[in-house]
Amino acid sequence: MLHCPHCKVEHDATTLLSCSDSAWPLPQWLWCECPACHERFHLHARDGELATIQVLGSPGAEFRTIETMPCSDLRTRQDPAFLHCWLGEVHYEYAARE
Ligand SMILES: [Zn+2]
Repeated sequence: MLHCPHCKVEHDATTLLSCSDSAWPLPQWLWCECPACHERFHLHARDGELATIQVLGSPGAEFRTIETMPCSDLRTRQDPAFLHCWLGEVHYEYAARE
């Protein structure tokens, strides 16, 4: 479980992936909307791990990790236009934000 950085409510990986609607494929960030408070935050999705992060600068890729959780059945693949995630057999794809 990861806490929303705004309201601190806990969400599991399925909720976090379902509530994300777009991504930055290169640094593997997701743009997630908390279903409890509807504030937005960034997630860092990697094979086996999901984290809430604070992005420090634009257009740089620097960020600070807020909280990390192991997510053994998470797999990711990036292409220029999409970030793909699989949680077990469930596939999610997120269009790249400009
Ligand atoms: Zn929240």
